[in-house]
Amino acid sequence: MSQDHREIRHLLGAYLLGGLEPADRDVFEAHLPDCPSCRDELSRSASLPGLLRRAAPTVPQPPDELAAAADARQHRLLAQLTARRLRRRRRTLLGVVAAAVLAAALVVTPPLLRPPATTATAAVIELRPATSGAAGTGTALLDPRPWGTSVTLTATGLPATGPFTLEITDRSGGHERAASWGTTADGHVQVTGATSVTPQSISRIQVVGPDGVITQSP
Ligand SMILES: [Zn+2]
Repeated sequence: MSQDHREIRHLLGAYLLGGLEPADRDVFEAHLPDCPSCRDELSRSASLPGLLRRAAPTVPQPPDELAAAADARQHRLLAQLTARRLRRRRRTLLGVVAAAVLAAALVVTPPLLRPPATTATAAVIELRPATSGAAGTGTALLDPRPWGTSVTLTATGLPATGPFTLEITDRSGGHERAASWGTTADGHVQVTGATSVTPQSISRIQVVGPDGVITQSP
């Protein structure tokens, strides 16, 4: 047996397990054709790596009690993991619910805070001078509310001296004052008042000054 053989024989195990550096593997494979002993050893051991791999999961074989304990430990770990996952999921669900509530609040809140859209249901009534040749003109925006009507008056050409009132007459002859205000610098005013009369029941709108009716609905 050569010195080469003894050194190279040490590489056989690593060669079988695929653990040799490429240079060592080349040396080992170059040695094989010249060494029947190494070839025999290799062929006898060739099936060993596969056997080792198959045996690995069950080695060492745990006694039954140990296996049971390991099993229980595994179950506990699994239960803890599941509980943690559930808690995390519950937190996530709470977050989702909170977000949904917030989103719903965002959707619901604006109509509660803002007056309803004035385009579809509100009506604009033209106000004309009560007497021919008078200057007072304007509009009354009638915005229906659960309690009656919000009335926004925009008027120009009001007399120099107030006070003024916005008077509402309903179809049965009832009468309500929706707003009152004082003298304005330029005869222009925008004021929002309120009446319990619904828009459909309003028969007349009048702006009244110290000298009587200034402007009114047709
Ligand atoms: Zn050899």
